[in-house]
Amino acid sequence: MIVALAGGTGGSKMVHGLALAGGQRDLTAIVNTGDDGEFFGLLVCPDLDINLYCLAGVVADRGWGYADDTFRCLEGLATYGRPAWFGLGDRDMATHIHRTLMMRDGARLSDVVDDLRGRLGVEARVLPMTDDPVRTIITTPTGELRFQEYLVRDGAREEIESIRIEGLDQAAPAPGVIEAIGSADLIVIAPSSPIVSIGTILGVPGVRDALAARRDRVIGVSPIVGGVPVEGPAHRFLRGAGYTECSARQMAEIYADVCATFVIHESDAAEAAGIEALGVRPVLADILMPDRPSRERLARTVIEAAG
Ligand code: GDP
Repeated sequence: MIVALAGGTGGSKMVHGLALAGGQRDLTAIVNTGDDGEFFGLLVCPDLDINLYCLAGVVADRGWGYADDTFRCLEGLATYGRPAWFGLGDRDMATHIHRTLMMRDGARLSDVVDDLRGRLGVEARVLPMTDDPVRTIITTPTGELRFQEYLVRDGAREEIESIRIEGLDQAAPAPGVIEAIGSADLIVIAPSSPIVSIGTILGVPGVRDALAARRDRVIGVSPIVGGVPVEGPAHRFLRGAGYTECSARQMAEIYADVCATFVIHESDAAEAAGIEALGVRPVLADILMPDRPSRERLARTVIEAAG
């Protein structure tokens, strides 16, 4: 069994690659829920849904949301003066309505994800990191923002003064999370945000220790190439969390206690010695995953590198 820890856009590419390389039956994705939020009374779980849609083969080409979706409902809400900055498509909305209704009837988030998984025809196991509500709050010079307000509504323009992850200290790992890590043949830390995706998963009490106990079987992939994130504002989150360096080496240092092997881009070969000095084995590869072949290829490299 391969276990992947994943956020949304970067994470789902790696999860997709692992599914293409090794099949879905032997794959478990443990997914960040710190980006979740409520919109129009509905619980929206962006990272879980990206991974589910990706594995189901229904993700839109842009990398999130449902393929060929329309936005009539959102347009209607805007007409009524409702804030419509978060792109919820009509077909996508059905996922959020179904999830919210199931949870109103007492289902746990992990029950909902398993239900969605089955109905969308996903064979891989997809686990939320926790069933408990966890919300990332960003403090900027102008005040506190919910994660999606900072990232999507405001385009991550402001510097981050601090990051608070509400509910994380009291959260329990979702059923199956610790067991999956304990019994995995290989654990892959996807190239997701080290602070607000992987950092959040590792912050669920018990998860970091469970991973550290399997360190020899853990391999990470860098989301940073040439000192900048492949996409998105990971550099801002790093600075907000107190890191002055944005590099593949810095990623390896953040994961050094839980990860024995770290895959970096070929062009970052100069960072390999610094990573080795941390007691982490560096592996050079093409870690960009714009399409299916590149995802599958990287997944094979990751599986082979782990031995
Ligand atoms: P979010 O939850 O949607 O923010 O997504 P993630 O946390 O899963 O992923 C965001 C990170 O993925 C960013 O730091 C990107 O640099 C990284 N990323 C996106 N695409 C790729 C890719 O093709 N290769 C690698 N190595 N990293 C990527």
